[in-house]
Amino acid sequence: MGDAIRSYSLTGAAVASPDGYDIGVRHIEGGQVSTAIRHALAPGDVVELQSPKGGFVLPLRNEFPVVLIAGGIGITPFLSYLETLEGNAGQPRIALHYGCRDDRSRPFQNRLEALQQRLPNLTLVTHLSRLQSGDRFDRPGQFTVSDIDPELLRKRARFYMCASDAMMEEVNAGLEACGVPAFEIFGERFRSPAPPVLDA
Ligand SMILES: Cc1cc2nc3c(=O)[nH]c(=O)nc-3n(C[C@H](O)[C@H](O)[C@H](O)COP(=O)(O)OP(=O)(O)OC[C@H]3O[C@@H](n4cnc5c(N)ncnc54)[C@H](O)[C@@H]3O)c2cc1C
Repeated sequence: MGDAIRSYSLTGAAVASPDGYDIGVRHIEGGQVSTAIRHALAPGDVVELQSPKGGFVLPLRNEFPVVLIAGGIGITPFLSYLETLEGNAGQPRIALHYGCRDDRSRPFQNRLEALQQRLPNLTLVTHLSRLQSGDRFDRPGQFTVSDIDPELLRKRARFYMCASDAMMEEVNAGLEACGVPAFEIFGERFRSPAPPVLDA
């Protein structure tokens, strides 16, 4: 991995003094760090970590409903959020729209279905865009803003997205067209830092 620095969202519940931390990494063909994690990292190797940072903060309590929109590995911050909510009083009503290509490219589905059983305020809707026979899903095709329950729009839900740039731009435009103010829409981009510019 060399000196490369990458960010990975924690996937477990936020608890005081945990025994360890979990992340979920999607392997990107040709990607420097995700390939090293998948093929080279071994138990006992030392990886330097920085403390968590960022401004993508999800509400543990909220008078407004919360709509989560995840594409593929963009589910990781929401997994941590939902597991953190367990047992908390005053949980908001939550709709999670989770879009993937097919069952094979859908991480954490079993964990999400288990969470749905334990969180009475959670509605999980899975969208598969390239269905394979035998895939489990709620709605075929890509997620669009028209999939959102209109009642949630009326109740001024807050929208949190973590997906590809293209999907987030499309959803953002769709929400604004429905009259959702920009300050009620939040997004997290999963991008590697730009490579350093070297002097010629
Ligand atoms: C706040 C934050 C949280 C993140 N959380 C996670 C997480 O929980 N799990 C996770 O797997 N990743 C996460 N990422 C993305 C991660 O940091 C890396 O960008 C990703 O693992 C690719 O790194 P790499 O070194 O393997 O690829 P690189 O060597 O950096 O890139 C190789 C090629 O892949 C392209 N590429 C880079 N990222 C992506 C991408 N996400 N999708 C498609 N193509 C890409 C690049 O443009 C380049 O062409 C997060 C990023 C941020 C900023």
